Amino acid sequence: MRIDKNKIQRSGEFETTIDLLYLLHNQIEQEKRGKSANGFSPSFISRSTCERAWFWHYIRKEREEFVWPKLARVFSLGHAIHDRIQKLLILSGVSSDDKIEVRLESEEWGIRGYVDGIIIDRDNSLVLEIKSINDKGFIKVEKDGPKRDHVIQANLYMWLLDLDKAVIYYENKNDSRHIAYTCQRDDGIIVWLKSMIKKVRTYHALNLVPSIAYNQYDFECKYCPWQASCQNIGGDKKKGADQNKMTKVKQSGRISITSP
Ligand code: SF4
Repeated sequence: MRIDKNKIQRSGEFETTIDLLYLLHNQIEQEKRGKSANGFSPSFISRSTCERAWFWHYIRKEREEFVWPKLARVFSLGHAIHDRIQKLLILSGVSSDDKIEVRLESEEWGIRGYVDGIIIDRDNSLVLEIKSINDKGFIKVEKDGPKRDHVIQANLYMWLLDLDKAVIYYENKNDSRHIAYTCQRDDGIIVWLKSMIKKVRTYHALNLVPSIAYNQYDFECKYCPWQASCQNIGGDKKKGADQNKMTKVKQSGRISITSP
């Protein structure tokens, strides 16, 4: 039997529909984020060391980045990998419904988020952090061990859940190879996280935006969702916020520039 290729056409219309749906979804998520109360999410504070970025994240300043539908599709591929692993762990009894996507909320530290899972290894409970990663990242992780921000995130969960060990599991999005690392709790990281939270809340109480940690060409700024605002208000990365004293925050969370 032959397939008549004349009966097949590429549907750009459907591709556009999917892209528009991703854009709409992104917009809804952005609005939800904007309406939530001040606070820290584990995934963000683990990947940034910039006090100013932490501060804007804390006050839920609207993100200025545009998430292209292609990137949104890549993200949803990651979510699908998470779902598959989590279902497998429940089915096999290595974890259970109530230990997957566990809600974490610390009033004291202003942290709200979800941990991918808690798994049982003999009599011990371990934090599970699932990461999907592209081929280039996977090769690096195979060679150098888990990424720094993932170790910080795992420690944040160990701190909040009062556990001593975590598993960081990577799956390669290109070919499904995988690698897992165990990670012992590192109290030095927890001390650093606490000090950042305290600092950022102090800036907020003083109505000050912290100074920058990087120059705009540094790698950390490349993926920062508030690059444009940051460049507008400037700052000196060598000085602290109190020395700069150039940026005040209005009640609404919007920024205004006062005299340097
Ligand atoms: S652009 Fe760079 S310096 Fe500015 S807030 Fe973001 S990470 Fe910090």
